[in-house]
Amino acid sequence: MQRADPLAFRQAASRFATGVAVLTALDSHGEACGMTANSFVTISLSPPTVLVSVKSGRMHAAISASRRYGVNVLPEQGGALSRHFAGRSRGTDPDYEIVEGLPRLANCVAFFACEVTRTIDVSDHTLFIAEVSECDYCDDLPLVFFSSRYHLGPGTPVDR
Ligand SMILES: Cc1cc2nc3c(=O)[nH]c(=O)nc-3n(C[C@H](O)[C@H](O)[C@H](O)COP(=O)(O)OP(=O)(O)OC[C@H]3O[C@@H](n4cnc5c(N)ncnc54)[C@H](O)[C@@H]3O)c2cc1C
Repeated sequence: MQRADPLAFRQAASRFATGVAVLTALDSHGEACGMTANSFVTISLSPPTVLVSVKSGRMHAAISASRRYGVNVLPEQGGALSRHFAGRSRGTDPDYEIVEGLPRLANCVAFFACEVTRTIDVSDHTLFIAEVSECDYCDDLPLVFFSSRYHLGPGTPVDR
């Protein structure tokens, strides 16, 4: 099968605008860890099911061990947090609390507590499919990631 050119693939994929989340979990020593991710997808409403795609690393090890993760959807002022949890800045001191055994960041626009039900390995990533045991949200605007850059809020609403 023919494969898309890697640069064209990356640039075309960047045209799919997403929100930005920080995945959180407790590692095998009980320490909180976090990782920036935009691969969050809702799969079904009943039961409430989501997935995230996570590359090998500390967060991958933490979710594999605990079988749980939190999804913290960042607010539009969350660019520094996103960079921090992507390993690109050490300047921010993230504020979080442990809620129901999962680290929860302050001031997020939504939070999902997720229990892993299934994993699928795809090259160097794993899809962690999970049922949502709890979630909540507020009406603040989210951070948006589009064309490899952060943007404020979702833009102007248009008719559905
Ligand atoms: C917009 C965007 C979307 C992304 N989407 C994805 C995706 O969907 N899937 C994917 O696999 N990768 C994604 N990445 C890349 C991913 O965020 C980085 O590769 C990440 O650094 C890997 O995390 P890690 O747990 O392996 O590494 P680590 O380096 O262990 O952790 C990442 C950073 O978080 C900090 N950190 C971790 N825990 C804590 C804590 N308790 N307190 C304070 N700081 C802490 C660390 O200091 C480090 O700087 C995305 C990056 C960006 C910018």
